[in-house]
Amino acid sequence: MESAEIRRRWLRFFEERGHTVVPSASLIADDPTLLLVPAGMVPFKPYFLGEVKPPYARAASVQKCVRTPDIEEVGKTTRHGTFFQMCGNFSFGDYFKEGAAELAWELLTSAQEDGGYGLDPSRLWITVYQEDDEAERIWRDVVGVPAERIQRLGKEENYWDMGVPGPCGPCSEINYDRGPEFGEEGGPAVNDERYVEIWNLVFMQYVRGPGAGKDYPILGDLPSRNIDTGLGLERLAMILQDVHNMFEIDTSRMVIDSATALTGVRYGAAEQSDVALRVVADHIRTAIMLIGDGVTPGNEGRGYVLRRIMRRAIRNMRILGATGPTVAELTDTVIKAMSPQYPELEEDRRRIETVALAEEAAFLKTLKAGTNILDTAVSETMSGGGTVLAGDKAFLLHDTWGFPIDLTLEMAAEQGLSVDEESFRRLMKEQRERAKADARAKKQGHADLSAYRAVADSAGATVFTGYGHTEGEAA
Ligand code: ATP
Ligand code: MG
Ligand code: MG
Ligand code: MG
Repeated sequence: MESAEIRRRWLRFFEERGHTVVPSASLIADDPTLLLVPAGMVPFKPYFLGEVKPPYARAASVQKCVRTPDIEEVGKTTRHGTFFQMCGNFSFGDYFKEGAAELAWELLTSAQEDGGYGLDPSRLWITVYQEDDEAERIWRDVVGVPAERIQRLGKEENYWDMGVPGPCGPCSEINYDRGPEFGEEGGPAVNDERYVEIWNLVFMQYVRGPGAGKDYPILGDLPSRNIDTGLGLERLAMILQDVHNMFEIDTSRMVIDSATALTGVRYGAAEQSDVALRVVADHIRTAIMLIGDGVTPGNEGRGYVLRRIMRRAIRNMRILGATGPTVAELTDTVIKAMSPQYPELEEDRRRIETVALAEEAAFLKTLKAGTNILDTAVSETMSGGGTVLAGDKAFLLHDTWGFPIDLTLEMAAEQGLSVDEESFRRLMKEQRERAKADARAKKQGHADLSAYRAVADSAGATVFTGYGHTEGEAA
């Protein structure tokens, strides 16, 4: 089943069951606490918080999401991308645990001829929050899942909040057993690659107080009990298309093929080059979706997220052996792959290509100059018997040659060196302070904006990922 069809079926199923279909919001979150949208519930946050009365009791969407904290997992696990689409159904004081569990089970297991996804029910495993007896009873007695395929997990996995005082509640997840070729048996509590998490059902029912991590008091009940769910479209596609990982599904596979044509490296030749090809497929797609929503590369905030992702993709193409520009062809492939679901990409093609190509040109220039400097610094360090690249070298690369620190870290690591990040950061800080002092001197007599800046910095530093964690964002 194609990705576009998975999406159509999702929306049709919930529309037929009284849900209002809401189009995906932009990746640029309309929310000062977020850089980018990490979960399907974000556009509905004001309804969940009770700030705005929802115009419907039930809604469904397929939301574009970006999770940069997952960047290190990309290509290494089979199931984490920086961009993915979260299919969601939402109830605002309408159905609760039982309704959510029944709807999910019906859609996943009803036959494909009847509009469902046709998954084999005996491969589905459920996790519930360790104290949520009610959810366990519903799965077992109402839905009919055998007790041995229901597992209890702790707060880290199965308790949801937004990282701040406000709504919270237990959640329950549906996982799919991909079989022994993906590892040992024992259920999702012990093996998350074999028993891949596909769908999270959040039962939003309590109000939490302040506290770090998951350590906070429950203050009472929310005025209404809500449902917020998220299913990863690419993860379901991976199962329905019977491929090994989410980068091999219809849409992403086209990008892998395009990268292999450009580099001559066969997919499947070696684990290391496969990971690089998957990183390229993931990152280029994320970059194009971000540019499509109006992000432009830069050195701060969203612009930096985009820059970092694009530059990583380009670097991986070079590691794979590409010597010239490759972004034009990769961009074309992503637009072709994604426009059946997002026709605006085709309409906006000229602008998207212009932004992507300009970033590639700038980076190739940077790379050429900086790589020589880095190589010299690396060999100097190694000939002196050192294993750590000095912080001032990393600083010079950043300051004069525009090398982001993670690029220096990666390139040094490839040659077996680490980097003295602490002194790099100290030098960066000193430089920022110098710049501030200069600016103050220039601006004598004008208002001091540093207090506003501090507020903006702290607001930009926190990222709510939607289901259970607040994660620091690269800024
Ligand atoms: P995992 O434990 O696998 O990292 P998660 O618990 O962080 O997933 P949720 O926050 O519960 O994920 O998000 C809801 C659903 O979105 C997940 O069940 C999964 O199907 C999908 N999803 C989450 N993160 C990613 C990702 N990085 N790439 C693709 N799909 C994802
Ligand atoms: Mg995760
Ligand atoms: Mg999880
Ligand atoms: Mg989850």
